[in-house]
Amino acid sequence: MSQFWSDLVHTLTPYVPGEQPKVDNLVKLNTNENPYPPSQKVYEAIASVNDERLRLYPDPNSDALKTTLQNHYGLKEGQVFIGNGSDEVLAHIFMALLKHDKPLLFPDITYSFYPVYCGLYGINYQTVPLTKQFEIDPADYRIENGGIIFPNPNAPTGRVLALDAIRTLLENNPNSVVVVDEAYIDFGGESAVSLVQDYPNLLVVQTYSKSRSLAGLRIGYAMGQSHLIEGLERVKNSFNSYPMDRVALAAGVAAIEDQAYFDGCCEKIIHTRENLVEFLTKNGFEVVPSAANFVFTKHKHLDAVDIAQQLRDKAIIVRHFKLPRIDQYLRISIGTDQENQALCDALSDIV
Ligand code: PMP
Repeated sequence: MSQFWSDLVHTLTPYVPGEQPKVDNLVKLNTNENPYPPSQKVYEAIASVNDERLRLYPDPNSDALKTTLQNHYGLKEGQVFIGNGSDEVLAHIFMALLKHDKPLLFPDITYSFYPVYCGLYGINYQTVPLTKQFEIDPADYRIENGGIIFPNPNAPTGRVLALDAIRTLLENNPNSVVVVDEAYIDFGGESAVSLVQDYPNLLVVQTYSKSRSLAGLRIGYAMGQSHLIEGLERVKNSFNSYPMDRVALAAGVAAIEDQAYFDGCCEKIIHTRENLVEFLTKNGFEVVPSAANFVFTKHKHLDAVDIAQQLRDKAIIVRHFKLPRIDQYLRISIGTDQENQALCDALSDIV
């Protein structure tokens, strides 16, 4: 360990991102990207960002994209914050909005970045176990807290929380910010964005990385009442960080405008997920009900690490988990129908 590091750096346990292999001929089902390309309109928008425009700094406020998102979600001016991927948006939320004297609550199990940010920003946290069926029960969140955060649908389980339950969480915790991380919402959940005008403590975070096929561009956003968004803008401007570059800005607007393409991709992914669930269930797997673009599953008898390794040998990458309660689980991202067929063929040889 470096003698030059500050005490903080010594205490951090950094996040380990999913494997991003360099070889193109792998079936990559390990990091929940969209298997379909972005809309053609996105490519056209990117091509329109010519040399002359790239010479200049981008709009520091990303106004065009903010207006597009505001209109799309029926929000008012000042209710959208934009960042380089939702991870960066989450970082701003951890810095700006969560109290340090009371624990931040999040489920056990959930997105593994949350404890990493808590370490970085010196935030206490307390995890709240999921039910046996891997569900979030709002009744378990009646603990004094400095904020609540959870993905909906949750990761890596894929289980979705209904809007009524989210309302209960908001009403039981009127003095805490409740952050709903909706990275996977478009694959089967109901967005809490419809609650924004009613709840001053709600922040909804979404991303272009999953349902909009743009993980490579890094666009994420938070939606909430203006007093929350203003806190995030203050943190951003204190860093002097630009929310996004000109290419991402143009693509971000175009992706929202092509609703038909977006709907078509989401429908295909949901359909493929249903086929995969049917195959897994018929072949000895238990599958947690999923509203996301992945499934969380374990085989009744076979070891998850072995299955993942055997799939890897057949050029298919999935994730397996090493946490105590879920060490036998695999998380499999939904691919194209062709990729899904390759997965099912490979699994048929293994199980
Ligand atoms: N939230 C959840 C629950 C995620 O799984 C991810 C992606 N791994 C993110 C946020 C971050 O996504 P991005 O930074 O690509 O927007």
